[in-house]
Amino acid sequence: MKQSKKILIANRGVIAIRALRAARELGYSVASVYSTIDRDQKHLKLSDEAICIGPPETKDSYLNEAAIISAAELSGADAIYPGFGFLAENASFAEKCRESGFKFIGPDPEVIAIMGDKIKAKELAKSLNIPVVPGYEGEIYNENEAIKIVEEIGYPVIIKASAGGGGRGMRVVNSSDELWQSIQSAQNEAELAFGDGKIFIEKYLKKPRHIEVQIFGNGKGEAVHLFTRDCSLQRKYQKIIEEAPALNIDNQKLEEIQNLSVEACKKLNYEGAGTIEFLYENDDFYFIEMNTRIQVEHTVTEMITGVDLVQAQLLLALENKYNFKQEDLKVNGHAMQCRINAEDPETFVPSPGRIDRVHRPGGYHVRFESQIYSGYQVPANYDSLIAEVIVKDKDRDRVINKMRVALQELVVEGIKTNQNLHQRILEDKGFLNLDYYIKYLEEKIIK
Ligand code: ADP
Repeated sequence: MKQSKKILIANRGVIAIRALRAARELGYSVASVYSTIDRDQKHLKLSDEAICIGPPETKDSYLNEAAIISAAELSGADAIYPGFGFLAENASFAEKCRESGFKFIGPDPEVIAIMGDKIKAKELAKSLNIPVVPGYEGEIYNENEAIKIVEEIGYPVIIKASAGGGGRGMRVVNSSDELWQSIQSAQNEAELAFGDGKIFIEKYLKKPRHIEVQIFGNGKGEAVHLFTRDCSLQRKYQKIIEEAPALNIDNQKLEEIQNLSVEACKKLNYEGAGTIEFLYENDDFYFIEMNTRIQVEHTVTEMITGVDLVQAQLLLALENKYNFKQEDLKVNGHAMQCRINAEDPETFVPSPGRIDRVHRPGGYHVRFESQIYSGYQVPANYDSLIAEVIVKDKDRDRVINKMRVALQELVVEGIKTNQNLHQRILEDKGFLNLDYYIKYLEEKIIK
């Protein structure tokens, strides 16, 4: 009998259980890894084997490349699923997987490396005729030079770390007085946080929306897009609510940006799922970065297209199956996701601890992606995302009603969550009227 394929899930939490289900449905075997504080993660109980890779500190466990490769050896896995966060966009890890004979489920290390360097990514985007935020990517040697450069761009500007991610390492500068000091501290911070002090400067857009294009490539020059998402409801550059597709944007503009994204992926021989992120202001799109992995918000795209993106990743990586044709992909209805975080809804301080009781929402086109259960301990060591509530309906108004009902049903007792904040957002006029932008939550709702 032919042995089933096996993946190793190199992650935890929401994406680990998501990947486990996808793999199981395809008939694959699953090995999982965990840190000592995570031994009661639900997906471990449902895996064929669970291998401890170290203590809670991420550098010793989920970022411990050698331990993860050893776990893959031990379990006889064919491929390693990185999910999002941790090693998902780490080119050297992808390379190590390749060298050790395991398929890294994602694009080539070379592509990850280019996109992980925001300056290189921006230069590549420009060379492919993708519009970028106006700015400066070269070296800056002294204050006078910096002042001259920024005068040309115009204040305010945002200083970004080339190696940055997760909303970290960015600072807004409003005048020349603060410029040089901000550049220097941004460089130092980037050196400390990412081991790479390279920074660049961009025009700071005041009220843009964050619009992104989901793409999928076969690694051999074929690629499709799966439309757009609007992720403009953010706090501290972190997404809180995501929707698909993006609404209130001229169709021709949307098509243009979707097609440019597909062309870029074809040229890169992009393999697997990826997202090209844009800011959108005054009817114009500006590329900001590409994420070379599955994203937290992939779910809303799945809801409107009927495509299981995680299974598509697995099928391509393990069986070389790629069945996408652009003309077959259609948008059906509207979808929204609320990220439920274990945190105080007023102060946003993380709220780890024991969840005494959970009640999951349900119903037609209501989806709950989560690892939590009654008695689950939320560790203090990791990201505070504990669940995603996702709903779909014919249009945005119905989606909002459905989400209100789903959130009323959701019960998480024992820790604090941002559930109330979501309920407040779903009553906010600007949000309801689609009249919001990336700073809207901070400027108008939580203040
Ligand atoms: P990261 O990789 O850390 O997520 P991004 O470049 O994707 O960084 O930017 C994250 C968020 O920061 C965006 O969604 C947007 O809210 C904000 N942002 C980035 N660039 C700009 C800009 N030029 N002007 C205004 N806001 C920006």
